[in-house]
Amino acid sequence: MKNNRRHFIKSSAALLAGAASPVVYSMSESTPSALPVPSAAKIISTWNFAVEANKPAWEILSQGGTALDAVEVGARVPEADENNHSVGYGGFPDREGIVTLDASIMDHHSNCGAVACLEGFKHPISIARKVMEETPHVMLVGKGAQKFALAQGFKKQNLLTEKAKQKWQQWLRKSDYVPEINVENHDTIGMLALDSHGNLAGATTTSGVAWKMHGRVGDSPIIGAGLFVDNEVGAVACTGLGEAVIRTGASTVVMEMMRAGKTPQQACEIATQRIHKIHKNHRDMKYLQVAFIAMNTQGKHGAFSLRGGFQYAIAEPNGQTLHNAGHILKWS
Ligand code: ASP
Repeated sequence: MKNNRRHFIKSSAALLAGAASPVVYSMSESTPSALPVPSAAKIISTWNFAVEANKPAWEILSQGGTALDAVEVGARVPEADENNHSVGYGGFPDREGIVTLDASIMDHHSNCGAVACLEGFKHPISIARKVMEETPHVMLVGKGAQKFALAQGFKKQNLLTEKAKQKWQQWLRKSDYVPEINVENHDTIGMLALDSHGNLAGATTTSGVAWKMHGRVGDSPIIGAGLFVDNEVGAVACTGLGEAVIRTGASTVVMEMMRAGKTPQQACEIATQRIHKIHKNHRDMKYLQVAFIAMNTQGKHGAFSLRGGFQYAIAEPNGQTLHNAGHILKWS
């Protein structure tokens, strides 16, 4: 893995609005690992920073490891990256200058764990996993989540980097809350994995929308909204404006469409169309972006977004690829 350099080559750029999942990048080296790779294994993750996140996650799958371990390890990559301003350390703060994080994780037994509005810990995904494994609950928030993290041995630290602080201070001059996506103030990593044992798992982790009200929680830690895994059907993760995702129970919509026989691609498109319809006259519509990734138990994937600009990365036995998702609208 370490010796495998990956090069992404732009192979086609022009996308038609509404086109389903066109490939826009391919890899010049096609084998992600020298180890024998289980043919069933696959990962799909949101945004271009998923490419780096998929690497250690794929290493786990390629050695026969579990989807659950893969998504946790993968999600920790953007969490630790101070140049990623929408996840973990270095994330943009809320309007009071406080970085608060949301994360969730779910396994093939429908076990799940989440933390929301968590301050001071770099790896909320690992704390979410501890909530799942060590408590009788599904979600811990705020001070309770902090207390639990400390008791589990996680180290508290300042997550507000100098760069994020400067951006916040610039924002304070106008204090104009515009939850525009596809820019650096907004993006979750959602990661779905299928392992060689045929099991699915998923994870989401985010600092949420920049300049949000203190205490705001998005869709990412809410099972059935930002993340959902059902080992009989598939797995779904969302990114985009969490309020719109929660309003529509969007991951559940995608899941139930797949259960009813739709392909992951069709299911993602139906959920996006529903969000579009519901929000046509909504105040959020002007800047609204939502996007979905989904994978079924056979490893077939789908991805779709309301507006252009959403990218997702796929890791599978013959390599890793970055794609532009099909979408309904262009940014105007
Ligand atoms: N869904 C996240 C939230 O609303 C942010 C994003 O994915 O863009 O908190």
